[in-house]
Amino acid sequence: MIYKVVFLLLTSLSVFALEIKYTPIDFGKIRVELTKSYIKEHYSLQVDDIEIIPKIIVVHYTGIDDFSDSLSRFIPSILLGDRKDISAAGALNVSAHFMIERDGTIHQLMPINHMARHVIGLNYSAIGIENIGGENHKQNLTVEQLISNIELINYLKKKFNTIEYLIGHYEYKCFEGSELWLEKDDNYRTEKQDPGKIFMRDLRANLKGFKEALCD
Ligand SMILES: [Zn+2]
Repeated sequence: MIYKVVFLLLTSLSVFALEIKYTPIDFGKIRVELTKSYIKEHYSLQVDDIEIIPKIIVVHYTGIDDFSDSLSRFIPSILLGDRKDISAAGALNVSAHFMIERDGTIHQLMPINHMARHVIGLNYSAIGIENIGGENHKQNLTVEQLISNIELINYLKKKFNTIEYLIGHYEYKCFEGSELWLEKDDNYRTEKQDPGKIFMRDLRANLKGFKEALCD
């Protein structure tokens, strides 16, 4: 049933251009330098800038059902004090290129060609899309979010012909050992469930031309 709803809505929306609001997080000199340090420490690459060539789109949920609470966690350049799970791996704060509200509003948070810290091992080739929701691991993303993800992902695929893969964050470890996997620290891993298998199933049912995670 959900596919039919989505198809009808997409048909009616397709005449409109994709609307993306620019809602910038702090991404000045400090965050750029922290990103370079992360690239050096984790990927053993010495870089002059933090530009990426996107090959993977990684879909997430924030684990918080409120937009401003979610956004506030990404704004500072330095990792928040409660992220003890990843603080040993560097002070660069987490972020994503896009954030989608529960009503489907799409925000761009940072330059699309800059590296964001959102997926261990793959950041140097990954564009991140965060969805507001998933509090207490509930698979509660909305149909409006599904539609906006489909439109945004199609837009990105057109913009970057280098993009090959579409994955959910919970699938990231499937890339270990592949040429896209750059992480040098075997002890730096997190367990992820976002954005949920139901959401990825619905996304994939409505998108063509992407490779899936390598362990499928
Ligand atoms: Zn995630």
